[in-house]
Amino acid sequence: MAKIRNIWVTGERVADFGDLIAGGKTLADSVSVVVFADGAQAAEAFAAGADRVYVVPGQDLLLEDYVPSFQNLLAREKPRLLLLKTSKRMRLVAGRLAAAAGTGVITDVTALTLEGEAIIGEHMVYGGSAQRLEKSDGGLCLALVGGGVFAPSPPVAGSGEVVQADFVAPARQAKLLERKPIAGEAVNLAAAKKVVGIGRGLARQEDLALAERLAGALGAEMACTRPIAEGVNWMARERYIGVSGAMLKPDYYLAVGISGQVQHMVGVTGAKTIIAINNDKNAAIFKYADYGLVADLYTALPKLIDLIREERVNRKE
Ligand SMILES: Cc1cc2nc3c(=O)[nH]c(=O)nc-3n(C[C@H](O)[C@H](O)[C@H](O)COP(=O)(O)OP(=O)(O)OC[C@H]3O[C@@H](n4cnc5c(N)ncnc54)[C@H](O)[C@@H]3O)c2cc1C
Repeated sequence: MAKIRNIWVTGERVADFGDLIAGGKTLADSVSVVVFADGAQAAEAFAAGADRVYVVPGQDLLLEDYVPSFQNLLAREKPRLLLLKTSKRMRLVAGRLAAAAGTGVITDVTALTLEGEAIIGEHMVYGGSAQRLEKSDGGLCLALVGGGVFAPSPPVAGSGEVVQADFVAPARQAKLLERKPIAGEAVNLAAAKKVVGIGRGLARQEDLALAERLAGALGAEMACTRPIAEGVNWMARERYIGVSGAMLKPDYYLAVGISGQVQHMVGVTGAKTIIAINNDKNAAIFKYADYGLVADLYTALPKLIDLIREERVNRKE
């Protein structure tokens, strides 16, 4: 695949978008990173593989108020592709940048490819039951990309040029009245190698302990379907997988009591192996699974946990 000359990458914090820098490297010879405020994150960007860092200046501004300076920088430097790490605020920034540049944004990108001069962005529509391809033939292409689309690469002892952008004051600056921490869990499912997913097959919240024992025995991260996080609220929102949740690329995904609806399964298409436990032999999950066990989870899980522990003990002997 031919590469494009230069890709720009940005997000709220470099620590969150190292994977996009690594992904940019697969598409371009050189990757430029855009950071905000004082450039303190430049070193982090170089360690993640950036070749150049643009610093959009400003003091005590909210992210949205960097947009006029960012707009000005884009108009001056004219990059072909800008990858933005998806977050609520980055969606807003992307929309405003695109409107100013007279272009659109490819949102929730699941794959990016190059076809000659054209950039093709793939993303899901109709709740994950179809894929749409969007093509950018020229000018600025903006793409919002979430976690799990590109694999991060190990840190490098990199360095490069730091370029200060001009400051353009926002016409109406937002006023910060108060900051409150968001209640949630810091979990990076996109980076997990082993994942146990829980679905509505689990009858009671206290039974989560059984699944946690299995995940503990395997050294796996816990995840769930959307109804478990946004219906009965037994697990944090950050832990649900699927079209509107996290996208995973683990070595294996063990789905327990999960029916296998497309909106969930699109989140695990990157798993190397899918294993399913479900008491309904006709459950859709078995169409996706490499290994399936038709069983009641309440019978299967305690046996599995014992087997894993026995295996561990035997291996040590
Ligand atoms: C626009 C839209 C977006 C959506 N986005 C997402 C998303 O991002 N992620 C997501 O997960 N969902 C999403 N959904 C919901 C999705 O369509 C499914 O409803 C959901 O994934 C089903 O969750 P589940 O498999 O836990 O539950 P169910 O579909 O109810 O399945 C439970 C399964 O457990 C099995 N079971 C029951 N008891 C046992 C037992 N004792 N032992 C073993 N197996 C048992 C049953 O046979 C069944 O197959 C979305 C829906 C819409 C409309």
